[in-house]
Amino acid sequence: MTTITIDSELEGIIQAKLTSLKSKVIVIGSGITSSHLGDERNLREFLIANSVSNYLREKGKNTLFLLFDDSYDPLNFRQLRVAVDKDEKLIKKFEKYCGMPLRLIPDPYDCHQNYSLHFQTEILKRFHNLGIYPNIIDCYSSYESGLYDFAKKIVFTRYSEIKKFLKKEFPKYTMKKIFWPVCSNCSKMEGTIIKGIKNEKVSFDCSDCNATSNEPWMTIKGKFSWKIDAAIKWNVFKIDFEAFSKAYLDPDVGSYFIAKTLSKKFFGGFYPEIIHYGQVLMDKSLSYKLLASLPNEVFHEMFLTHRKKDLTLSKVKIIQFARNYKIEDKLSYNKYVVSKLPYELFEPLYGGTVDSKYKKFMNQGLEFSRLFLGKEPYPLLPKKESVENIDRRKLLQIKRLIEWIILYKVEFPEEPTENFSKSLDKFFIDSKMQKNILFPIIRKLLSQEDSLPMNRIFHLVPNTFFYGCLLVIMQVLFETKNRVLSKKKIKQKPIMAGAIL
Ligand SMILES: [Zn+2]
Ligand SMILES: [Zn+2]
Repeated sequence: MTTITIDSELEGIIQAKLTSLKSKVIVIGSGITSSHLGDERNLREFLIANSVSNYLREKGKNTLFLLFDDSYDPLNFRQLRVAVDKDEKLIKKFEKYCGMPLRLIPDPYDCHQNYSLHFQTEILKRFHNLGIYPNIIDCYSSYESGLYDFAKKIVFTRYSEIKKFLKKEFPKYTMKKIFWPVCSNCSKMEGTIIKGIKNEKVSFDCSDCNATSNEPWMTIKGKFSWKIDAAIKWNVFKIDFEAFSKAYLDPDVGSYFIAKTLSKKFFGGFYPEIIHYGQVLMDKSLSYKLLASLPNEVFHEMFLTHRKKDLTLSKVKIIQFARNYKIEDKLSYNKYVVSKLPYELFEPLYGGTVDSKYKKFMNQGLEFSRLFLGKEPYPLLPKKESVENIDRRKLLQIKRLIEWIILYKVEFPEEPTENFSKSLDKFFIDSKMQKNILFPIIRKLLSQEDSLPMNRIFHLVPNTFFYGCLLVIMQVLFETKNRVLSKKKIKQKPIMAGAIL
């Protein structure tokens, strides 16, 4: 499924930008940090960038959707804890790597070449599941392959000029470090501080191991501060569009404007057009639960409509989205989970097959039911005791109705609900049965008191479930008939006894 959700304002922004672009490949930029697999909150940015990319492709533009992985960033303890799912043993084993570039840390799970590649793969797997297919650009590899060399020359020869420029242009902002060198002794970058630049060499101290280094600036290991890095990246990869939330767009201290000003002054002047999106706030209890319980369509709808509005996600809000989102005509996701899914689960139990895509959808429904509605959506056949309480004449009518439904659906398996409903009405008239008497009883039997209209339920519930219902009803009818007969026998007994006497 290609997802394109572009509002008219964004369409205007894209069109305006396109007219100013010379004929070329349009580049959309976006960024991750392979420090851990974050929760669902940060996915809005990528869904929006992906949507713009799909839109441009549909408009006949050659488009590159680049996903920059900040694999040169140092790992921090908070990220490590989330990354290893709070596994105490792994935390103990890996905390010594905090402060080191992600790319230089071993894989905690031993299945990839390093820490960064492990989580990069996890993130990409998640993106692919969401229909997002970007081209990954590994930040560490960019530096190693020399893509940033031109910028090293600029930064290290104009080091104090850049500092003064930032102070003048953004007095409210202080850049902690312009460049983060990696200590050649302990491989950490968190505690390194540049002391001076002289004769094309950078001297720096490391507060982690107390080492002092003096290295040529062209071959020095390390990375620029995020804002400088962004400015360079825009110029190297000629990024035309990038999604930003308001956290990046503060005119005084926002990363976007600082990087843009730096780009114009020092690195070539290229900068992307902003695709603005609202922040996502989420109850902590929902972390990592949304992807498991919402199909892509619902997820996309939630994050992509009202792009610029902040979104606060709570349990109630998610249920509201599930109620509003129609997975098919007149059937919301929520109603699907409550009314249709339990019966669908019945199908594989009786040997029916379900394709893998639909299985995933059903599993998400199961999770949604458990996590958000608080119930196990197992299909329950009518209880024998409840069937026994139904008046025998009405029960015979219900049996007749179910037999009619089964036969109808065998004969017309692809019939739309409207036609089914018309035929059902006709059946009620022909058989002189009354909906208003039977439906409330059936609703109770099927535990569908608060659900879809009965004709919809009859139409969507698979026949396998109705076979089960029929068996229960027939058993009760058979037993009550026997009871009636045996009662008659009891009444007859004295006569028979008398006869013998
Ligand atoms: Zn791995
Ligand atoms: Zn060190």
